Amino acid sequence: MKKQSNHIDDDNNSTLIKRNILFVIAHPDDECMFFTPTIQHYTNIGNEIFVVCLSNGNAVGLGKIREKELVDSCIDMGIKKENVYFDQTNNFEDGMKIIWDTDLVEKTIHSFVKQTSADIVISFDECGISGHSNHISISNGLKQFIKNQSMATTTSSSSSSSSLSNRTNNSSNLNKEIKAYKLETVNIIRKYIGIADIPLTKLLSYDENSTQTFIATQLFPPSSYSPMTKHKSQFVWFRYLFVFLSRYSFINTLIEIK
Ligand SMILES: [Zn+2]
Repeated sequence: MKKQSNHIDDDNNSTLIKRNILFVIAHPDDECMFFTPTIQHYTNIGNEIFVVCLSNGNAVGLGKIREKELVDSCIDMGIKKENVYFDQTNNFEDGMKIIWDTDLVEKTIHSFVKQTSADIVISFDECGISGHSNHISISNGLKQFIKNQSMATTTSSSSSSSSLSNRTNNSSNLNKEIKAYKLETVNIIRKYIGIADIPLTKLLSYDENSTQTFIATQLFPPSSYSPMTKHKSQFVWFRYLFVFLSRYSFINTLIEIK
């Protein structure tokens, strides 16, 4: 069963075409487990997609294998191999209970936004979909990044004084408007009702000015199935179930971070 265009708020499409979109993920497989409908949307309307993965998923010593699997998964989703990055600082250790330093996450996001000329940054919300500490750490860092960008832009536009600009750390101001969105964590019932969450989401009243909703182009097998098969070292039974039962295989709701 196939579905064509899938954006609930089509008015926003025109403003998002031909931009650089940066996905910040914590582990290889986050991109297709959670973000497939969004990646498909931005790919289909001709945007340049970048993925930066802060850890290589080395919790059980398979980091190098998982790096390659992520690249293969991204290629399967239409993302260029050269647009997939791993953080090389070793600052971000893979672990359910490991909280990453917010300043370091912000600094890393800043660096990759600059490197990719990203216009839009997308990552997790404060609940991290699964409650994973690494996901939540990225959310905190992205929130701080947007807050500091906003402050730097406001200050530099309100005064041409070099002394004022210096106070806000000029090197942190990227001199462009960067939008950021967080993937909404839903309750456990909605999380596992699969495609049934599509009509339910349409019934719920989201703020259309700050929310984007994307639906996957293929419902069976879910669009996330093919890229997930590239993650051979992780494609165990519960991830198989997740691909078929989770709403994140079919629909994403993104909320703007302000
Ligand atoms: Zn993850």
